[in-house]
Amino acid sequence: MADTWQLVPHNEVKVTDRYYDEALHLQLINMLQLDPDRLLAGFRETAGFIAGMDEAERNSFMKGKARYGGAWEDGMIGGHTLGHYLTALAQAVVNPGLSEDEKSRAKERLDYIVSVLGECQEKTKGTKYEGYIFGATLPTKEFTDNPVLQFDNVEKGLCEIFTQSWVPWYTMHKIVVGLNAAFSLAKNDIALEVNNCLLGWIANRTEGWSEETHRTVLSIEYGGMNDCLYELYDINRSLKEKGDSRAYSNPERIKAAAHCFDEIELFEKILSGEDNVLKNTHANTTIPKFIGALARYEVDRTQDKYLEYAESFFDMVIEKHTYVTSGNSEDEHFRADFSLDKERTNVNNETCNTHNMLKFARRLFAVTGNVKYLDYAERTLINAIMASQNHDTGFTTYFQAMGTGYHKVFSSLDGNFWCCTGTGYENFTKLQRGIYYKAPGKLLVSMYLASEYENESYKVVMDGDLTKSDTVTISVVAKKDVIEDNLLLWVPGWTEGGMRVQLNSNEYKTDCDCRFIEIPASELTDGAQLTIKLPMSISCHNLPDGKDTYAFCYGPFVLSARLGTLKMQETTHGVKVNVASEKAVDSDVLTITAEESVDSFIANIDKYLVKRDGSCEFDLGGISKPKVFTTHFNQYTESYGIYWKYESDSNKEN
Ligand SMILES: [Zn+2]
Repeated sequence: MADTWQLVPHNEVKVTDRYYDEALHLQLINMLQLDPDRLLAGFRETAGFIAGMDEAERNSFMKGKARYGGAWEDGMIGGHTLGHYLTALAQAVVNPGLSEDEKSRAKERLDYIVSVLGECQEKTKGTKYEGYIFGATLPTKEFTDNPVLQFDNVEKGLCEIFTQSWVPWYTMHKIVVGLNAAFSLAKNDIALEVNNCLLGWIANRTEGWSEETHRTVLSIEYGGMNDCLYELYDINRSLKEKGDSRAYSNPERIKAAAHCFDEIELFEKILSGEDNVLKNTHANTTIPKFIGALARYEVDRTQDKYLEYAESFFDMVIEKHTYVTSGNSEDEHFRADFSLDKERTNVNNETCNTHNMLKFARRLFAVTGNVKYLDYAERTLINAIMASQNHDTGFTTYFQAMGTGYHKVFSSLDGNFWCCTGTGYENFTKLQRGIYYKAPGKLLVSMYLASEYENESYKVVMDGDLTKSDTVTISVVAKKDVIEDNLLLWVPGWTEGGMRVQLNSNEYKTDCDCRFIEIPASELTDGAQLTIKLPMSISCHNLPDGKDTYAFCYGPFVLSARLGTLKMQETTHGVKVNVASEKAVDSDVLTITAEESVDSFIANIDKYLVKRDGSCEFDLGGISKPKVFTTHFNQYTESYGIYWKYESDSNKEN
């Protein structure tokens, strides 16, 4: 059962769907417009102080460039963007959806940044900060005298974000992940050297923690430090096994550092399944910790308990805290169990959370083979990730409101370096992830999205657009005499068992009502053509605390009502995060006129929510104020309503 599947490598899949391809290009264009020297300014400044440079020397080392503004990059969380940026550039370098020129521009940018980080690290050699690279602001003399003061403060539990520390381990996680990706994907060797040297600094620190300090550190957001260190361990372990001289001399030391970020007490609490265990916990602090638990299992398959921790947490989030779009949280926090209708506001569904849950789902599928993770992953990619981009500008969301009547608010090119902005860079440079998985002798199609998968012996070309038609085709092109892989087709949950497959215009008989249809390699000759019909229908989804509060989906697509552009007002929230401030409707209650009860209205929804021919627009009638619904993922120009409270006319209070 274990080790069932692997995501196919980034460079073997190209998304050809036009909307997705545009989304990728918009993201890359924006990323390349950023000035790498400004993203690096903080790293150079920190290295300059460590090396004892005077102001003029530092300024010259920084090329006269200042950090970007907006209260994040020029705050004590500064430098987190560079980590995301490195990951996203590395993904771009191996993304077949980009031209050779685009890929080489991404590679050039990545190589430049890594070389500067190496230079910064060089300045720390022989000092007590050896290996340390960081880009946060150093707001006072105390910080310039001691550039690791944020980490010292965390160990004392001092975490006021403007004067003491703003989640430095979270930022460190982004940097380590970025360097991992620069090495693994973009084949930049210096990235591994820098990361291994940085690891020396990290391990010196974790090895010095008393039990009490350890507990204090883990009480403050630290991202997925366990996850990224297990990954770095895995990279070094496999290099070492091959006798590669680039390997860290003692990979077990990296693993031990990773263990220090495993929060066993929390893991056990989740496993116990007690009520409201996640209530008011910071969602994006918590999710990566469990991805880290999974990572521990991924690198050591004897650690079954860690898989259990990961699975229990995932299930708990889905069951008790998740909206129809796959998003979770209210103002960054999980609220009480099953409290979702009550918590629909302008600040739900932080994008980092869905990004992390999607990554988590894919990795859980890979190790368990459980189809529920594919169902979640498809829904999330379409309705939370694709839904997070403004398709004109390429800028992305922080929150996605579930309160009816708000609109999506997007970042800007260089003014909003929120956590979710960096997450956005990562999301849109890897849109080809999760469409195909492989196992020995098998290729799995796990999403129906126009794309091409290619390895050395064959190519699979998938065409179709589920927003336009319920039929997709898959053609097989053999590059060698025989195709050795069976082709597995995922049967989406939303087809309700109605998926039909034709192989070369003959109905392909399957004798089970299962979630995968397996076509043996022997039937897949060059030119073989599969036609897959995925009947789509309307499904209705209410909330655990809102029996009559419904959202609608059409196949995999969440629908939202179009509410116009009249009331798209914004305000700021938290640390300069832009959010919607006004609702386009006075009320989210819809009164049913055509049926006696909400239940009968919902039972007959096909009569009332009617698709317009040739488009993905739906007219909702049978209510006092008819509405037009459309696919939510591409609603970015006007206010929207996903959830509405339905009431029958007879029950209406007068
Ligand atoms: Zn975020």
